[in-house]
Amino acid sequence: MRVAIYPGSFDPFTNGHCDILKRAAGLFDHIIVGVLVNPSKSCLFSPEERVEMISEAAKDIVNVRVIHFNGLLVDFCHQTKACAIIRGLRAVSDYEFEMQMFSVNHQLAKDIETIFLMSSPRYSFLSSSIVKEVARYKGDISKMVTPLIEEKLKEKFYSS
Ligand code: ADP
Repeated sequence: MRVAIYPGSFDPFTNGHCDILKRAAGLFDHIIVGVLVNPSKSCLFSPEERVEMISEAAKDIVNVRVIHFNGLLVDFCHQTKACAIIRGLRAVSDYEFEMQMFSVNHQLAKDIETIFLMSSPRYSFLSSSIVKEVARYKGDISKMVTPLIEEKLKEKFYSS
């Protein structure tokens, strides 16, 4: 069975992430969405909230599981018997960082391949930061995230 990890902060998971996930799910037997728990990065949503939101957004994709992890990505790949890492590429601006990540991961684990999927054009300017920014100022995010995630963002920003 060929398993791949789709890692990220997903704070929150956007329709751009979902597009990459659906396409990756067609290429592998099983995809594990790995929600990165990084204590040095302050996130709006807790790891548990992010796992719950992604699980709901991906409920119709049968070969997907969502879990959070900390530590090295390549260790997580070995623990879950994954042979590949999926990353999305939006624009040239993503390239440098992704190349750096690829080089480090490749050095640490030669048995893990990184697969880059180009963002679909309609999502190429969509990011979690943009979604949070628009939501904060009560803009329309209905085409950027699922209804549940839209609701959760409104709770975070408007309930105080
Ligand atoms: P990270 O903190 O690891 O960059 P993100 O949650 O921002 O995590 O992104 C996770 C992955 O999804 C990365 O590979 C990123 O390039 C990709 N990604 C983010 N937004 C989009 C999008 N709109 N279209 C395609 N891929 C995307």
